[in-house]
Amino acid sequence: MTVAATALTAARRARDLAELAAGDTVDLLVVGLGVTGAGVALDAASRGLTVAAVDAHDLAFGTSRWSSKLVHGGLRYLAGGHIGLAYESAAERDVLLRRVAPHLVSPLPSVLPLTPLTPAVPAALARAGFAAGDVLRAAAGTPAGILPRSRRIAPVEVHRLVPAVRRSGLRGGLLGWDGQLVDDARLVVALARTAAGHGARVITRCRVEQLHGRGAAVLDKLTGEHHELRARAVINATGVWADQLDPGVRLRPSRGTHLVLRPGALGRQLAGLTVPVPGTTSRFVFVLPQQDGYSYLGLTDEPIEGPVPDVAEPSAAERGFLLDVMATVLDTPLSDADVVGSFAGLRPLLAGAAGSTADLSRRHAVRVSPDGMTTVVGGKLTTYRRMARDAVDAALTAAGLPVGRCRTARLPLVGAAPAQDLARLGPPARLVARYGTEAAELAALAEHDPDLARPVAEGLAVTGAELLWGVIREGALDADDLLDRRTRIGLVPADRARARAAAEAMVERGRAATTA
Ligand SMILES: Cc1cc2nc3c(=O)[nH]c(=O)nc-3n(C[C@H](O)[C@H](O)[C@H](O)COP(=O)(O)OP(=O)(O)OC[C@H]3O[C@@H](n4cnc5c(N)ncnc54)[C@H](O)[C@@H]3O)c2cc1C
Repeated sequence: MTVAATALTAARRARDLAELAAGDTVDLLVVGLGVTGAGVALDAASRGLTVAAVDAHDLAFGTSRWSSKLVHGGLRYLAGGHIGLAYESAAERDVLLRRVAPHLVSPLPSVLPLTPLTPAVPAALARAGFAAGDVLRAAAGTPAGILPRSRRIAPVEVHRLVPAVRRSGLRGGLLGWDGQLVDDARLVVALARTAAGHGARVITRCRVEQLHGRGAAVLDKLTGEHHELRARAVINATGVWADQLDPGVRLRPSRGTHLVLRPGALGRQLAGLTVPVPGTTSRFVFVLPQQDGYSYLGLTDEPIEGPVPDVAEPSAAERGFLLDVMATVLDTPLSDADVVGSFAGLRPLLAGAAGSTADLSRRHAVRVSPDGMTTVVGGKLTTYRRMARDAVDAALTAAGLPVGRCRTARLPLVGAAPAQDLARLGPPARLVARYGTEAAELAALAEHDPDLARPVAEGLAVTGAELLWGVIREGALDADDLLDRRTRIGLVPADRARARAAAEAMVERGRAATTA
């Protein structure tokens, strides 16, 4: 696949939309370019189908950029007795870690400290859960050389990994491993570009106003024009907004909030920190270290009522809850000064079960409406590939088209290469973890113009080359796309403000380069 084939640009978007608006009928139209819709686009395009994929906003505009960025082994499903779901997660984690996106997913160690305040039941359950996770990992075929076995560790090892854990009474900890994405939005971008490389037309800023089994009425948000798009099969992958296009779907969204902690808030954190929520047996709060030095403290689970907003806002109560739980294991509680940002996402949970949203199944559902439109919803980021496969199978069957064979389990995304090859690449490890084999091309951009090698603002790691790459290769159309989805500078408002001018300048420069 050539770089040109996978490059998403404003010019390509305009051309692709014009062809569709002129009446080109595609085999499959997918609505929504979160991880599910982008996964559908890749699945269908790699089966040899003609595909159009549209989003009202941008790649990864919805829930897919607000996740905890974990590629789960499915432990929490085991706790609920859902063995099939747990195995599915572990198997998908293996596919992502070893074949599809080894550049974006890496092993993350996490520590659960055993303190006098750690109640016996959650501690015992966690120990059993870690052991079950080892069995799942082995069953999924992931070598212990990639995700090591869980084990009990001594207090000194707990402190080496997370220095801020309270010393008095510490009995040691449990150490386990899972997969972590360098950035969930980058997974979506890589999926969309790989789909484009297989010929999919990927069109952002295109809102579907009406959807049916044979196409959609859409609004081009850049021009204000309305168009009819035609397709032989249609998939609605709009996540928490899915019921707006398919009233037959019933959702019960719940908000999950993370706080962004300043670098060093928990000392030199080398592992995730997992803390049982007091008074519960299987709920945990965690702090996950990130590549850029920040860490994310999550996670809440708050049912929401009423209209679904474009972007959810964390509440003061959620912030208080997260800080209070963390205080149970730290020598010095986190203060307001440690919290430099926050973000919230809405889980597209399926309605239909009683109980709290924390207990609702994370299983996905595929539904074909009476007029032949297929909706895929629920699930989670880790299992996007299965969701995509099931949705494409169902949509093609409903449309009476040949189903073909899903190929995505063996299809590396743009930038992917085996871990040992990635380790041999020259440019900074930071770029390799975000761009994989394409890091060399970013480095080459900066060689021609040393300004591009410099950080876009003091104290930030993101360089000008990354912003320019976002415009000339990754379909960023404005500064928000660059700050909030091609990079995650926007998660810290102060950083966002400092980088804004550079992002705006790079949109202009990238546009000029791709339309010249
Ligand atoms: C706080 C939180 C943490 C999570 N953490 C994890 C985790 O660590 N690991 C994990 O595996 N899973 C996690 N999940 C679950 C996972 O993030 C979601 O299941 C997944 O991202 C949903 O993706 P999606 O593509 O279905 O929906 P979305 O990402 O929401 O995509 C839907 C898209 O549809 C578009 N759209 C909506 N309406 C229209 C329209 N009319 N026309 C055109 N486009 C439209 C939107 O703009 C959006 O881009 C988490 C979820 C939450 C909320």
